[in-house]
Amino acid sequence: MEPSQNMCTHHFDVAVAAYADDAAIAGAAASPALIDDLVTANHILFDQGIVDAFGHVSVRHDHDPERFLLARNMAPATVTADDIVEFMLDGTPVNAAGRAVYLERFIHGEIYRSRPDVKAIVHSHSPTVLPFSVSKGTRFRPVCHMSGFLGGGTPVFEIREAAGDGTDLLIRDRNLGAALAQTLGESSFVLMRGHGSTVVGPSLRHAVYRAVYAEVNARLQVEAVRLGEVTYLSDKEAEAAQRNIETQIDRPWMMWKRRVQSGQASAA
Ligand code: MN
Repeated sequence: MEPSQNMCTHHFDVAVAAYADDAAIAGAAASPALIDDLVTANHILFDQGIVDAFGHVSVRHDHDPERFLLARNMAPATVTADDIVEFMLDGTPVNAAGRAVYLERFIHGEIYRSRPDVKAIVHSHSPTVLPFSVSKGTRFRPVCHMSGFLGGGTPVFEIREAAGDGTDLLIRDRNLGAALAQTLGESSFVLMRGHGSTVVGPSLRHAVYRAVYAEVNARLQVEAVRLGEVTYLSDKEAEAAQRNIETQIDRPWMMWKRRVQSGQASAA
């Protein structure tokens, strides 16, 4: 053992996994129903092609707004209730008990810190959205009434502005998480250049719905652009469409949930 290694606060990165000591805090446990919904959200996002072995979904703790729940470092399709870990907003786990956690948990903590209205967050590299993060000519904008949450066009997080050239593009510390949260601002969706996207919502159902329909919108926008000049939803139309459609999000949630729980889905 090298003398410089600190036995008490081991903190080392393994690819996109990380290990961190638990915070010594006590508090109310999250509702089992919330944990079950978070497990379901993991499975739905895999089944709908939003996450693969990578990407993650979190929810704010329902009895302590200063904590959030996120799976340990693993593929979302295989998450169970026993894999859900509580975190402080600074990314410190509360009950990881030595299990590896997601390196990019700072995406979640720093957005929850800056946006009290946000109750759930999905971070993904979903494949049709990602090209919009690198396109210099085409902004990601709502092309239909199902994706009004994209508003008048989505902000793009440029990690070089926060950390210079030569990063691995990952949100691997609190400063990068805070910079991402700043670019997100009051929007529901932020592209991350050369990496993917992050979408937020006032509930898990909203965040999952928006993650799925962001990918749908990307497919539709690519097709529309191929046909020529595109008329996008105006800001007012996006707002009105969002207000209406998001009263209906229980419908897709129940359908997607039944799929993953019935064995029809690609998620096991
Ligand atoms: Mn990522």
